[in-house]
Amino acid sequence: MAFSADIAIIGGGIIGLSAAYELAEATSARIVVFERMAPAVGTTGGSAGVLCLCDFHDIYAAYTLLGDARVRDLRRSHDIGFRAWGSLHVYYEGGQFPPPQDPFAVRFGPDRPDSLYHREILDSAELVRRFPWIKRDHVLGGAFYPNHGFVNPYRLVDLYQKLAVATGRVEVLRGTPVLQFRRSGERVGTVVTRRGAWNVGEVVNAAGPWGAKVAALAGRELALTPQRIQVCVATAFDDGIDGSPLTGVPEPVNGEGVWCRGEEGGTLLFGQHHHATKPGYTVDPDYVNRMNDNDYPTDVAAVYRRYWRLPKSEFLNGWCCVYGTTEDGFPIVSRDSEVTNLWHAVGMNGHGITCHAGVARTLRALMVEGSSHIDLSDVLGHPERVDIAPLDVGRFQRGELIQFHDDSTPRGAKPDESAPSPEV
Ligand SMILES: Cc1cc2nc3c(=O)[nH]c(=O)nc-3n(C[C@H](O)[C@H](O)[C@H](O)COP(=O)(O)OP(=O)(O)OC[C@H]3O[C@@H](n4cnc5c(N)ncnc54)[C@H](O)[C@@H]3O)c2cc1C
Repeated sequence: MAFSADIAIIGGGIIGLSAAYELAEATSARIVVFERMAPAVGTTGGSAGVLCLCDFHDIYAAYTLLGDARVRDLRRSHDIGFRAWGSLHVYYEGGQFPPPQDPFAVRFGPDRPDSLYHREILDSAELVRRFPWIKRDHVLGGAFYPNHGFVNPYRLVDLYQKLAVATGRVEVLRGTPVLQFRRSGERVGTVVTRRGAWNVGEVVNAAGPWGAKVAALAGRELALTPQRIQVCVATAFDDGIDGSPLTGVPEPVNGEGVWCRGEEGGTLLFGQHHHATKPGYTVDPDYVNRMNDNDYPTDVAAVYRRYWRLPKSEFLNGWCCVYGTTEDGFPIVSRDSEVTNLWHAVGMNGHGITCHAGVARTLRALMVEGSSHIDLSDVLGHPERVDIAPLDVGRFQRGELIQFHDDSTPRGAKPDESAPSPEV
């Protein structure tokens, strides 16, 4: 017996479930989401959940704006565990302080007090007064972004699932891996899962770091790389620290940028981060060791203690998971170049929580509106469209990689040792 759906979405992470909601709101399509285990068990559940400025390009700036607007909207009537603990960019000797105005602030983020671009410039005395665990040595000052914060990714995904199902047009099948695509000519005709076969209209690959494996079911190659990311946890409550913003130190740990943010309960999370595929981190997401390297917490402690006072905190093994990265650091959100009813929404490169609503809007533009632009007028209050055609899956083969804009210094965002001129 075969079931049927107008749209089949593969993957129940933040991208798959927010896309299900967006497409259900925009169409009368019957949508099924296949999740091989449970919603948010992939990258989403291991995420830090931070919403900060990921504005390395017009598209990322638009995605940041849309993610912020969506989360604000959801927060008004639902508890998604949002904590506005801000993010802090510390400038050390050798950096430019005070920092120049953000080029995207004018176009996308008017400096309203509630905007993600809103910042407070702190001199070094004020910085260590507010964040006394930061040592003052070599600190010029800081930029504090009070409207940045984090969500609980499990709650956000739960909410999208509820909202999508409430439309009456979405079914979410957990414990249902997609095992095979049966093609008829240039289309995927049938999706075979553990729970039987589905005749489908359109197929969305939202399988995160498994995206290349899902594309392979259709005989397609995807320029998506799964990369291992480690997180450790410090018992900062032992040092009386609570509510720390997202911040970092100016030194990598074992060659990798490591961010830190406060967690509920007075702990600190420390996690690796890079903006694009980096040699040495590639793994098979089905076989990756879910634990950190044994010495990772000690290595993080050694570096952070050079810049911060954490005498009593213990650094513990947290977890590790897998990002889906691309060579240029931009997502792939596009129709497949050969299979006409297959769409890819993968390669979030560590920014999928911030960018999810923008990715969902991109799928709506491409699949429902037949447009290669997303419209931002609802969130900006004036007409503004952003071209999303560069996110095309074929760009790698054509050698048309997207470039970060000139000043890709992270502003309150996560430190990345592979990014040009990081200042934290
Ligand atoms: C340590 C860490 C910290 C991060 N911090 C942030 C942050 O602060 N801010 C931010 O914006 N982003 C952050 N990210 C990135 C963000 O978490 C990801 O970009 C985002 O969660 C990706 O979501 P996704 O839905 O694409 O993938 P996933 O969450 O991995 O979802 C894909 C799903 O597909 C399912 N699946 C795979 N194959 C199949 C199949 N064959 N059949 C059915 N289902 C299948 C998987 O089980 C999985 O649930 C972080 C990531 C990590 C690892």
